[in-house]
Amino acid sequence: MADFVKLTAEVVAMNITDPIYSDEDKAREHLEGIQWPNGPVCPHCGNVDQARITKLQGKSTRPGVYKCKDCRKPFSVTVGTVMERSKIPLTKWLAAMALMTSSKKGVSAHQLHRMLGVTYESAWFLAHRLREAMTTTTAKAGPIGGANKVVEVDETYVGGKAKNRAHAPAPKKHAVVALVERDGRMASFHVANVTATTLRPILVTNVSRASFLMTDESTVYPKIGKEFKGHGRVNHSAGEYARAVFFHTNTVENYFSIFKRGIYGVYHHVSEAHLHRYCAEFDFRYNSRKSTDAERAVRALEGIRGKRLLYRGPSEAAHP
Ligand SMILES: [Zn+2]
Repeated sequence: MADFVKLTAEVVAMNITDPIYSDEDKAREHLEGIQWPNGPVCPHCGNVDQARITKLQGKSTRPGVYKCKDCRKPFSVTVGTVMERSKIPLTKWLAAMALMTSSKKGVSAHQLHRMLGVTYESAWFLAHRLREAMTTTTAKAGPIGGANKVVEVDETYVGGKAKNRAHAPAPKKHAVVALVERDGRMASFHVANVTATTLRPILVTNVSRASFLMTDESTVYPKIGKEFKGHGRVNHSAGEYARAVFFHTNTVENYFSIFKRGIYGVYHHVSEAHLHRYCAEFDFRYNSRKSTDAERAVRALEGIRGKRLLYRGPSEAAHP
């Protein structure tokens, strides 16, 4: 199994001259190393027995195809991932992921289109699938916060900029709620409306009840706050500076400032249907902020498998 390299930060330099961004075989081996650290796994039946999996080597066989001797089906590393059935070369998928995970505010589909030499529609499609790969659920990672932890909760609104549309009605604003543990992880969610009813399930599912909740004085939080260890409400106008050392929501406000600079500066406009994927992208970068660019790209590529694909092809990619 010489093909399968145990990946460490040292062997995965995020370097534009890395052959994984130009050589399709190297790109595939890189992905195999990330997805299959102990050798190929059959995506059809879950077989991991290396004696029962053969690499197909025939002249007429595409490179990177394996056959499972248990279920007798062929497979490659992209089967069951967001890259399945894509015509875009893996070198371009990897380059797109490297760009998206290393750029603080994200990379637009227009820029990916120009940098990777793929159509705008393909770039848009690829970027949304990579956002899907970046989706980490608290169901998997465990709740945010815990004993002696402060979780700041706040909401913001995106969209609704009526520039150059003097005669059109102002577009709708979309609410995003973020839960940020101080010095820890975070998660954000698009919600149709900010009410105690819409926020409660998000908070109790994603935040440990042993946490101390920190919010503004919005009327949506007092009842939910009682379900947690403690609840502080920040009065922005009170000017109590001594109290403000602990009673603040600066962490979540800083997150929103990066998020909004990305949404307005890079993406310009995001539709409500896709807002949750942009949230996933910004959450992913925030949660891996202590990793190097190379480690962050590898972590994102670990997430390509088993993601629900809600759209099928570039023909449906007309709306950003
Ligand atoms: Zn199998």
